[in-house]
Amino acid sequence: MTTLEISSPSSFSSWPADYHTHTYLCRHAEYTPLDYSRAAAEKGIPEIACTDHIPFPNDPAPSIRMALDEFDLYLSLVREAQAQGPCPVLLGVEADYRRDLVDGYIQQLLDRTDFDLVLGSLHTGPFWDLMPDDPTATPEFVEQMWRTYFLRMADLADARLFDVCSHFDIVKRNGCRPSEKVLAEIVPPALDAVAQAGMAIEINTSGLEHAAAECYPSMQILAWMQERSIPITFGSDAHAPSQVGRHFEPAADLVKSAGYTTRASFRKRICRQVSL
Ligand SMILES: [Zn+2]
Ligand SMILES: [Zn+2]
Repeated sequence: MTTLEISSPSSFSSWPADYHTHTYLCRHAEYTPLDYSRAAAEKGIPEIACTDHIPFPNDPAPSIRMALDEFDLYLSLVREAQAQGPCPVLLGVEADYRRDLVDGYIQQLLDRTDFDLVLGSLHTGPFWDLMPDDPTATPEFVEQMWRTYFLRMADLADARLFDVCSHFDIVKRNGCRPSEKVLAEIVPPALDAVAQAGMAIEINTSGLEHAAAECYPSMQILAWMQERSIPITFGSDAHAPSQVGRHFEPAADLVKSAGYTTRASFRKRICRQVSL
């Protein structure tokens, strides 16, 4: 496992864009896109993306996502920030992968407007609340949980609906991990699917504040990504403007040590590479 060295802010010459932020419409976050744009400009971040969770149909009590009838409000809040904000704001969305919704609903929602980028992510599974000290967290169960998660990640890539994989190995969120041998068996096929889909993978720094205590994805996975020339973006997964760009200094050091010299920049779902 790689130890993350925390570098001082003064050693950090240029900020990457922050392509993962949440507004108050996600219920568990605060503030508007304009608030985020102002906070990002103060930090010197060159560009942000608003990426609230995609609404789901017939969601009776949404706890992490806007309701379907709030989608137009979301678009207008982002447009307001684009018109008035001091830091450029991209129109994004975090589209949770659901097998039952990929054929039709998600595509139709994405077609309703011209997004700059679409994050694809997995949020459901026992990894979300299973703790390592839970008696049911046996090595066999943890291994199966990871196998299922990365099979689903390959499905997500195969759906060809998303531009960037969010928090790629969030299955490690609470610290339940399989052996290195299992990891080497199950992760590369998912990365092959991502590479074939032409998707990027996000360096999500929120993991540094979870029990996982490292970015999503790990250094080992970054090295496998680099071998496949999978582009990277940076995302704080901020739920308040003060979190924009959080931990980007050690994250930039991490990706550089994995061999990356560029990051992906998006406009209207077209990816281009810019220097780190
Ligand atoms: Zn997420
Ligand atoms: Zn998120």
